[in-house]
This record gives sequence, structure tokens and C-alpha cells, in this order.
Amino acid sequence: MYFFIKNYGCQMNIYDSLRIADILTNAGHEAVLSVDEANLVILNTCSIRDKVDEKVFSDLGRLKTIKDGSSAIIAVAGCMAQLRSQDIIRRAPYVDIILGPQNIHQIAEIVADMIKNRALDALVSTSSNADDKFRQLSGKFHHRSVSEYLTIQEGCDNFCAYCIVPFTRGREFSRSVSDIVNESKNLISLGVKEITLLGQNVNSYNGEGPDGKSCNLSRLLFELANMDGLERLRYTTSHPRDVDLGIAKAHREIEILAPFLHIPVQSGSDNILKRMNRRYSRDEYFERIEMLREYRPDIAFSSDFIVGFPGENDDDFEQTLELAKKVNYAQAYSFKYSPRPGTIAAKMDNQISDDIKSERLQILQNLLNEQQSTFNQGFIGKHVNVLLVKDGKHEKQLVGRSEYSQAVSVCGNNISVGDMVKVRITAVASHSLVGAAEQ
Ligand code: SF4
Repeated sequence: MYFFIKNYGCQMNIYDSLRIADILTNAGHEAVLSVDEANLVILNTCSIRDKVDEKVFSDLGRLKTIKDGSSAIIAVAGCMAQLRSQDIIRRAPYVDIILGPQNIHQIAEIVADMIKNRALDALVSTSSNADDKFRQLSGKFHHRSVSEYLTIQEGCDNFCAYCIVPFTRGREFSRSVSDIVNESKNLISLGVKEITLLGQNVNSYNGEGPDGKSCNLSRLLFELANMDGLERLRYTTSHPRDVDLGIAKAHREIEILAPFLHIPVQSGSDNILKRMNRRYSRDEYFERIEMLREYRPDIAFSSDFIVGFPGENDDDFEQTLELAKKVNYAQAYSFKYSPRPGTIAAKMDNQISDDIKSERLQILQNLLNEQQSTFNQGFIGKHVNVLLVKDGKHEKQLVGRSEYSQAVSVCGNNISVGDMVKVRITAVASHSLVGAAEQ
């Protein structure tokens, strides 16, 4: 079959979509670049906010046209498939396959079953777990870029009051160090220069080490630090509570470890952090930031914020603004609280009106954009190291990311995708930098 995968949501879904493509290609199917060329369409979904679910349903509505009267197969995978399989069957009865994020290793055999017997009702498989998934995920890798994700840990035990991830990705599971080292070598053999280690709660990683003992994230980072061909290492997403001294030392001592950390705080108010079940206080958050800055003074931070969480009053919001000012982020993401079915927060009283959420979001985003712009302005005339990942809009222009995770457009002669180049920054665009490659 000719397959097309549409990805929604987080980096872990991007990783899963690549593994799905590997499995289908190894089973003899062919990837195509547009849905119009495909007779096997896979939507790898996210369910982090209601808006995303509705986007998937409207895309499914459009897919009905290619399905009518054809032998095309439509599959829905990912977190929404895990959480809302019955809703999908009810609202889009023409969907053939529904696959949880930890059942992606079954895609080829389920497609084969569906091809063999087109009269079958929708095949739903959402029961597996991460351990099974990674034990059965195998086979040749295809089509990798110079910068790739590598899932090392999946699932989450934290149960933050607003989050559906523990219900879609299950309990925390960490892959063994040898598994991760082998996959890293595999990626590097395909030309990958930068690896971003992924986990919903990446810094609670505790996989089996080479000595059979439990290995935490900082030890894993040192295991990968001297891997031939690996030019840059990143990891995401960290939980503030699990940032420890080992991580700080890793940032001081590992040359290829990017001095950039995404460390979601969500709110600056202890009252709201408690209601969110984040299990750290604003002071403990500051302590982590200060420790990391002590060990790696040039380290840059990004974060996630939720405004309008149930019970958030003006003073709580003021404390969020104050925290953001104190940390001074290089970049940050902020969202209005979105009630998710099945989460504790969705049943909480004191839900905030959408108007107030929008007002607070605007104020916070203005502050965060200002911080990002000031951070980027500080690089004019200075140098950063950019891994070039794709062509830019203009001739002799390539695009990549600096060690501080800034998007950079680079002009220069004799530069190509995959090069790590020293760039002198000449200008700042809205959310990116512009520079010239030093020859
Ligand atoms: S730590 Fe992250 S993934 Fe886990 S429950 Fe909290 S928000 Fe969700």
C-alpha cells in the first residue's frame, strides 16, 4: 500500500510516526508525500487539549471522501486513539484501525489483517505497554534527518491534576542503556549528528545500566558523551523536582550537551502548584535554576505555563509573572487551561472564564516574547554554533539551531546540511537569529 502519516502534537509522536513508517516500509509498503497519493492514511494523534481532538475529527471528516467506494484504509493512532476509541468509532465509523501509542509495533500485522478481510469492523488495539512496545520495535530505520529524537522513557507517574498523559501513555517505563546506545549508533550511521533524548518525565529516567544496575539520566548522558559521530546531545521534557546535582554536573562537563533546558513550571504560585499536584514549590524551582546556572553560567531555559487553572486568582497570576521575570527565559510556551476528560482538574470548582484566561495569556505572552527578544538581541555580534538542518528561503541560506535552541538562518559559501558551523550573529528576526558562517 501507499501510506501517508499525519502527525499531531509532541516530539514523542514525531518519534513514533518515524517508527511506524519504518515498520510499514520494512513490510513492503511505500511512503508517499501527500494524502491524495495514499490508500493507507494514518493520523498519529495528540489529545493534550480539546482543540486538538476536534482538529482530528474534522480531518477525519475530510478523509471520508477518499474512503467512499475505495479500498483505502484509515487508521487513527496515538493518545486520542487511546483515550477516545469509542468516540472515534461513533463519530467516524469508516475508520478501520485504532491503535494506542504503545501498540504501534503491531501496525504492519493489523494492516495485513485488514487487507485480508475488508469486511472486518474497526480493529482496535490499545492494550499494550511501553515495555512490550520497545521490545518488539525492531527492523531497519529509514529516512532520518541530521537531528533526530530518541525516546528513552515513556509514560508518567506524576498525575498532575490537568494532564492526560498518564492515562494515554501509562506508567513510567525506561529503556535499557544498551538499547539506547545501539539505537544512537544506528541513527549516527544514518548521518544523524544531533540526538534529543525524549521522555514525558525524562529526568526520572532509570533504565538498566551496562552493569545491570539502575542508571539515571545524568549517568546515561555521560554514557553517550563520547559517542563517535555525535556532535550534539539534548533531552526533554524535564520535571523540576527531578533536576539533581548529577544533571548540573553533566551540563558543566559534557561538551556536546547543549546548554539549554526545557523545564516546565506551569505556574509561579505555590497555591496553584499544589492544586496542580506538581509537588514542588516556587522556591524549590528557583533553587534548581540557580544550581544549574552555578554549574553552567551560560545555560538558557525554556518553560511551559498554564494560565487560568481552576482557582487561579489575580495574586496567583501576579506570582507567575514575577517568577517569569526572575528566571528570565530564553523562550517559553504558554497556554490557557483546557479541561481534559478524566482529569482531577476538570472536576474542580472555581473554573476560570475564557475571557480572563485570554487576558492573562496575553499579558504573560507579551512578557515572554519580550524576554525572548532581549535574549536574542544579546547575541548580535557574538558567535553561536549552529547545526544546519535544512535549506533556507534564500539562495546560499541554510537554517539550523544554535546550542541555545535558537532558530538561526545562516548565509555562507561551502556550507551544507549536516555541518556544525560557527556563526557570527548579524541580526534578530521575530523569533530567530540571522548570521554569517565563519569560514
Ligand atoms: S509530569 Fe508532565 S506528563 Fe507527567 S502528568 Fe505532569 S504534566 Fe503530565
